[in-house]
Amino acid sequence: MKRLLPVFVFLFGLVCQGLSQVSEQKFNTKYIYILVIDGPRYSETYGEPTCKYSPILCDSLKHEGTFYANFKNNGPTYTVPGHTAIVTGRYQRISNAGTALPKAPNIFQYFLKATGKDSSAAYVVASKGKLDVLVNTSHKEWNNQFVASTYCGPNGNGLGYGRDDKTFAKTTELVQSVTPPQLMLINLLAVDVYGHANNWDKYLESITQTDLYAAKLWQMIQANPVLRNQTTLFITNDHGRHLDGVRSGFVNHGCRCEGCRHISLLVLGPDTPKGVVVTEEAEMTDISITIADILHFEMPTSKGEFLRTAFPKN
Ligand SMILES: [Zn+2]
Ligand SMILES: [Zn+2]
Repeated sequence: MKRLLPVFVFLFGLVCQGLSQVSEQKFNTKYIYILVIDGPRYSETYGEPTCKYSPILCDSLKHEGTFYANFKNNGPTYTVPGHTAIVTGRYQRISNAGTALPKAPNIFQYFLKATGKDSSAAYVVASKGKLDVLVNTSHKEWNNQFVASTYCGPNGNGLGYGRDDKTFAKTTELVQSVTPPQLMLINLLAVDVYGHANNWDKYLESITQTDLYAAKLWQMIQANPVLRNQTTLFITNDHGRHLDGVRSGFVNHGCRCEGCRHISLLVLGPDTPKGVVVTEEAEMTDISITIADILHFEMPTSKGEFLRTAFPKN
């Protein structure tokens, strides 16, 4: 027995080493991008039976990842509150004009603090200037700390609205750079803007245009040897729009009707099963805690739940 003890100790060491390697290599994902298509109604995207307005996402790309068919905004269904819920993991009644900061720290701050990386490793690229509030918080321990980089509209951060082609050009520049951001949120506004303008045809055209942008973004990721096989893309929304018959229908949003709350989430990446459709409800507050877990840092202020189906643990 005495002679066997060193053998046991050696074998136990090997097992422990193996286990620690498994936990450290749980996910292949090193880069995470969140594409937020601002304000389409589910009935014109994945809910349209023939997928005619978003033929790539709703048909071909959907089969490349895990799709959440019952994904919800269960908080205020406006742009700044919706994006705030995505990046903080909490619902909050916050100004939709960009005049207040989110109360809770955001995913970018936790990421930059945990990794010690330069602010350019985390980015918000948005057509809407007011979304620059997403990278900061009024939380006294986190205010002005670990603030991510932003490009929020070509007029300067915090001002007005920019065009999606400019936003996508900035996204392209970053994705194709030598050191692409490790964590990035992108907002495209055209669908929402043409909805508010009561322009049904342009609203639908914009859904098709963002479908192309989403496909191009995924292609660019695959074409970049740094990002390929190491990048997860979340494609989601900040809110939907009123159902027909509710107030002004597709022209506006902001209530708790099914049209405003029912959004979507498609997850594509190296750790995510292909061709899976999740019908159980999940919600936008689940995104940030999932990202924190994948990239191995804590986000104690998030109230979301880990999106297990999209990231089955080994
Ligand atoms: Zn919006
Ligand atoms: Zn509504």
